[in-house]
Amino acid sequence: MKICVLPGDGIGPEITAEAVRVLRALDLKFELEEALLGGSAVDATGSPYPEATSKLAREADAVLLGAVGGPKWDTLPREQRPERGLLGIRKELGLFANLRPAILYPELANASSLKPEIVAGLDILIVRELTGDIYFGQPRGIEVRNGERYGFNTMHYTESEIRRILRVAFEAARKRNRKLCSVDKMNVLETTQLWRDVANELAPEYPDVELTHMLVDNAAMQLVRAPKQFDVMVTGNMFGDILSDEASMLTGSIGMLPSASLDENNKGLYEPSHGSAPDIAGKGVANPLATILSAAMLLRYTFAQEEAAQRVEGAVKKVLAQGYRTGDIFEPGTKRVGTREMGDAVLAAL
Ligand code: NAD
Repeated sequence: MKICVLPGDGIGPEITAEAVRVLRALDLKFELEEALLGGSAVDATGSPYPEATSKLAREADAVLLGAVGGPKWDTLPREQRPERGLLGIRKELGLFANLRPAILYPELANASSLKPEIVAGLDILIVRELTGDIYFGQPRGIEVRNGERYGFNTMHYTESEIRRILRVAFEAARKRNRKLCSVDKMNVLETTQLWRDVANELAPEYPDVELTHMLVDNAAMQLVRAPKQFDVMVTGNMFGDILSDEASMLTGSIGMLPSASLDENNKGLYEPSHGSAPDIAGKGVANPLATILSAAMLLRYTFAQEEAAQRVEGAVKKVLAQGYRTGDIFEPGTKRVGTREMGDAVLAAL
């Protein structure tokens, strides 16, 4: 069981260190090896996704990633920006399916900006296509045309790309409450008309799953109006980027939310849904739970270690019940702890 660990930038090294401690505490034999990605890789090698990292990632069964990026690298040419490293590894490993659960733990119901009755018991899964769409489409660029600057991008999907992500979503819905909402913008964008057509063509293969469709603007609204109507949502890369961040905030803390990005053989890259949080980097206050829960997803999806995954998730529930909170989820009456102490508490609960 080979795991490539990419701590990345900002709070990345702090939070991945805790997840690695949790993995090492399990009675499983992992080979863990670290490499550089993002801004730290640019500083050391000039590239956000160096060849040595690519090699290690390709050889590993799973990749555990912290986060990349920060103001230090924002002014670099686009090709050298940390985000390019992230897009590069996702593309190279063929990680086309991004699974982002948004679960509201009962202890954190007050952390949500929505009323507890609207979000209590929330448990949704957003399945986002990750390697296509306008984020990768060519042609793209900024040029001077007719004497003024002109920016352009291209949205496209092939039907096979749509079909494989929809299959992941239908299968995921089967393991949950059998409700799948496909999100598009078919009234304006032809690419997403094709998306809807392909979803409807696939639906008869999954008669046990109830398929519905929703326009993305309505979906954004429904997520804050009545989020519990959803079980699994599936959408393209750009809409999924936005909706999954929105869904994560329903739960009150982005510091709690894991994610998995899978290829067709369940090789996966696992990372928290949040970014590198440069504002709190190096202070030892970041919440490591999203990364620890990402490690649980790694155990479940890549290594089929369901029992170990549940042990880790159970330990996280326990520390929340015990009242341990990092700053982002702190409330009066709970115990404020730092990154390391939260890791210690999870290890103790394990
Ligand atoms: P962010 O998620 O890094 O931070 C948003 C806010 O949430 C900040 O106030 C931060 O302190 C807080 N936060 C995030 N994670 C936390 C945690 N674990 N514990 C406690 N608080 C936490 O988003 P941003 O500020 O928009 O982006 C910062 C940098 O991260 C940018 O360079 C951006 O490009 C990058 N980024 C990287 C990824 C990734 O690596 N997958 C994703 C999003 C953003």
